[in-house]
Amino acid sequence: MSDYDAIIIGAGLGGLACGAILARSGVKTLILEQSGNTGGCCSSIQHDGFTFDIGPSVVEFKWVWDILFEKLGRKTADYIDFIEIDPIYSFITSDGKRFSYPADLTKTRKTIETLSPDDVKGWDKFVRIGSGMSEIFFKSSMFTPMMTLRDMMIFGIKNPLLSLKLKYVFINFESALKGFFKSEAVRASMGMHAYYLGLPPALCPGYAVFLCYTDHEGVHYPKGGMGSIPKGIEKAYREEDGEIRFGERVIKIITDKNRAAGIRTASGKEITSRVVISNINAKTCYLDLIGRDYLPRWAVKAMESYEYSFANPNLMLGLKDQIGLDAHHTVCHSTIEDMNSAWFDYCLKGKIPSRGFLLLSCPTIEDHSLAPENHHCLNIVTVAPYRLSGGKDWDSIREEYIESRIDIVEKEFHLNLRENIVAAKLNTPKDFERMLLQPEGAIFGIQFDNASSMIFRPRIRSGAIKNLYLVGSSTHLGGGTPTTTASGILAADMILREVF
Ligand SMILES: Cc1cc2nc3c(=O)[nH]c(=O)nc-3n(C[C@H](O)[C@H](O)[C@H](O)COP(=O)(O)OP(=O)(O)OC[C@H]3O[C@@H](n4cnc5c(N)ncnc54)[C@H](O)[C@@H]3O)c2cc1C
Repeated sequence: MSDYDAIIIGAGLGGLACGAILARSGVKTLILEQSGNTGGCCSSIQHDGFTFDIGPSVVEFKWVWDILFEKLGRKTADYIDFIEIDPIYSFITSDGKRFSYPADLTKTRKTIETLSPDDVKGWDKFVRIGSGMSEIFFKSSMFTPMMTLRDMMIFGIKNPLLSLKLKYVFINFESALKGFFKSEAVRASMGMHAYYLGLPPALCPGYAVFLCYTDHEGVHYPKGGMGSIPKGIEKAYREEDGEIRFGERVIKIITDKNRAAGIRTASGKEITSRVVISNINAKTCYLDLIGRDYLPRWAVKAMESYEYSFANPNLMLGLKDQIGLDAHHTVCHSTIEDMNSAWFDYCLKGKIPSRGFLLLSCPTIEDHSLAPENHHCLNIVTVAPYRLSGGKDWDSIREEYIESRIDIVEKEFHLNLRENIVAAKLNTPKDFERMLLQPEGAIFGIQFDNASSMIFRPRIRSGAIKNLYLVGSSTHLGGGTPTTTASGILAADMILREVF
């Protein structure tokens, strides 16, 4: 007789979603979280009177949470208060120009027309194809487990449009954009979406361009900060008698004849369970918590072959005045070449890029509750390497990094930032590693290229260890708030079908 039916390692979105459905179905579930909070990357913190989001700044695909709460016999709105973001983005160019993409497709068409009249036809085609691709690549794949080649084939048969548009799986993001838009300015305004998959436009799979379309189906922010999403799921989980223990780091998944049988914590507790669900990095789960000696050789080789995903330092600033931003998200405009160069010439060489991906997020534009009266929160998110060249490390360059980001925003994009700052907190890739035990601060677990997506990514049901399931960024669907939540739903459905 086991202590629990299911133990979940980590209270990120994937672990919480999975736990809530299991608990709702009467499965005796325990979540063990090493930090003092739920949410992992998707958390908010209090600092000098401001509520800062440590990771994501908006969500796409809000319907994923509607599906989750429906499965929990509840309404999303009773647990999470989502506000719609409009415009989706504003852009600032270094010559001081501003333009924005409103949620409304026709209004965005007008913006495109102003930028490049020749690209209006391309936009219309993009919208036409985008709506079909959104169904396949995002909606349909979101709830299709990818365990075997057969699953992939069935997915293809059920979505005949996929075979006609298969090229978007094989060409890169940059080429896919070129197929629709002639103007470099228009392409550049959409290029940053490649980094939503954690890769530059030259390496990111082409289908990700359609995220520029799905944005127009709704981008949302949860009132109270991004941490309100995990808090809402945690509430439902507890109402279903789910148990969470904080400050409990799991150091071992105990196996018995290739079957997960429980866990051991850093404080020496051994807890048995019928099923173990890992919401942590897949490489850590297999290579450290299970251990090479307990795995088949192919599983060790497979895990070793995966690269960690990119890192995203997040500079969180409290401001005493708005700095002239007119949208929740403002993108400091860069060319596609800059976005690629940020990866190849900087990140891969251990250098921090000055251009290529700079996102300003100002959630207090919609939600004033996050800051003292008349004050604002601003996050500056960039892509950067975990390992720095020249013998530097993140702890020794904190101040230098903060100053350099402020300089870019002030000098290149002409925003009056420095004199408005009243609070500052920086989370470097090293901080993410320390806070959330994410190896190399890899916010998406493992890299998300074609060679490590769908059936080529670590699977939700482990093939090497029975009764071990994986959720979160490094399994099927990859990193992101909706995808990791969906992975938890997929895993719970599978566990209920296969084990209980
Ligand atoms: C700066 C940044 C910006 C982002 N921007 C966006 C965005 O705009 N939109 C979007 O959709 N996504 C964004 N993301 C990605 C998104 O936040 C993540 O992909 C998602 O939240 C990860 O969820 P997860 O289920 O994989 O769990 P994680 O968030 O990785 O949580 C895992 C949990 O496991 C715990 N844990 C780890 N090891 C152990 C152990 N041994 N024992 C016990 N507990 C353990 C950790 O403490 C953590 O709480 C961003 C992330 C970051 C960091």
